[in-house]
Amino acid sequence: MRHPLHSLRGAGPGVWRVMKDKEQMNDFHGLKLADPILKAIAESGYETPTPIQARTIPALMSGRDVLGVAQTGTGKTAAFALPLLHRLAQSGERAQAGRPRALILAPTRELAGQINDSLRTYGKHLRLRSTVIFGGASANPQIRALRQGVHVLVATPGRLMDLMNQGHVKLDAVEVFILDEADRMLDMGFIPDIRRICAKLPEARQTVLFSATMPRAVRSLADGLLDEPVHVEVASESTPAQRVAQSVRFVDKGRKVAALTGILADEEVERVIVFTRTKHCANKVVRKLAAAGVSAGAIHGNKSQNARMRALKGFRDGRIRALVATDIAARGIDVPEVTHVINFELPDEPESYVHRIGRTARAGRAGMAISLCDLDDRMALRDIERTMRASVPVDDDHDHHDEDIAQARGERRKQGGRGQGRGRGHGKAGGNFRRRARRPARKGARSGA
Ligand code: AMP
Repeated sequence: MRHPLHSLRGAGPGVWRVMKDKEQMNDFHGLKLADPILKAIAESGYETPTPIQARTIPALMSGRDVLGVAQTGTGKTAAFALPLLHRLAQSGERAQAGRPRALILAPTRELAGQINDSLRTYGKHLRLRSTVIFGGASANPQIRALRQGVHVLVATPGRLMDLMNQGHVKLDAVEVFILDEADRMLDMGFIPDIRRICAKLPEARQTVLFSATMPRAVRSLADGLLDEPVHVEVASESTPAQRVAQSVRFVDKGRKVAALTGILADEEVERVIVFTRTKHCANKVVRKLAAAGVSAGAIHGNKSQNARMRALKGFRDGRIRALVATDIAARGIDVPEVTHVINFELPDEPESYVHRIGRTARAGRAGMAISLCDLDDRMALRDIERTMRASVPVDDDHDHHDEDIAQARGERRKQGGRGQGRGRGHGKAGGNFRRRARRPARKGARSGA
């Protein structure tokens, strides 16, 4: 199977410093991974390393630190997991109770679970043990798994801190530390926890940091953690998945449910993730869809781990056609056949838009992202377009088009100057994501996830 992102633009000049182009490996055998790992990769159907893998794996195999800018869907999990498994398998040491030799931090339980699943898939012919710990579930089975001894611990920061404080985990044997989705860690306020966790790690270690974007705070975290890292990048900051066909529909808030069910009346909208800003709205949308005869399930922070897993499984199996999710809960979802992403509400953060639409058009399939934009959403839309440096095509060929909102959007554009124009006094804050400071708080905007 050829990964769709083999076609992604590679690193620019100077970004990739370890391998010259002609040396780049185009099959896994060239990467010098142990045979049991190659066997597992072949069984997974992977034929060729993705660009992020071709660049990251040799750097990690040579013992270097890596700073990777890559989104979910690029194959970044295998990029760090394969060399890690190789290293642990080579040394052949036994797993020790509560003293992992590798620590992987991820922002959400879903992502942490998926990373652990990947480790088990790629390491199935090795005698290595991994476990995953996260909040929102009983700690006892996690503590038991730690006591039995693990080579690799995958964790969300909060639960790790708890279990460290209770003496169930010690980080003094960690040789490899991997921080995944660092920008999302930042969004979720985990950076102080991460700094505390890092203070307990041995100085002599290999460190890998992956992030979809590089806001300043992540860059400074990386500077403190990484030692002369190899920089690896497959897509530039804030560039959305280019294979996704995007459109925006201007719809009055009161008509959004009708607009959504209208979209779902089309059978080609087979498997869809509907994004809302809040948990409350996600629940409401599920109820309305169910009333309209659409099988739907919600995943958000108020749902128990079991309920989320059930919804995700139903979605994967095709029993649930519409998965309604908040941004944080949807992080790390990897379902290849998502045909559509619908933004029932636009996200507060332009970055989240990029992450959302990246849930579709995976594994070589086509994908569409439709945003329903009401009067309140239009500033978010403007910020998204400014961040992407591209406008989202307007679709007014539907029953719910609201010309007033379309006009109001045009007005804002003119006031804001052309395209990316910025008003006086805004030019110095730096970075792409500085909207928050200027934007009046939207009622209920940040209450959920
Ligand atoms: P990730 O970016 O790690 O979330 O991976 C995205 C998807 O790509 C996952 O479903 C992986 O199983 C798949 N994948 C990773 N590496 C390869 C590869 N070299 N060839 C084909 N599929 C891959």
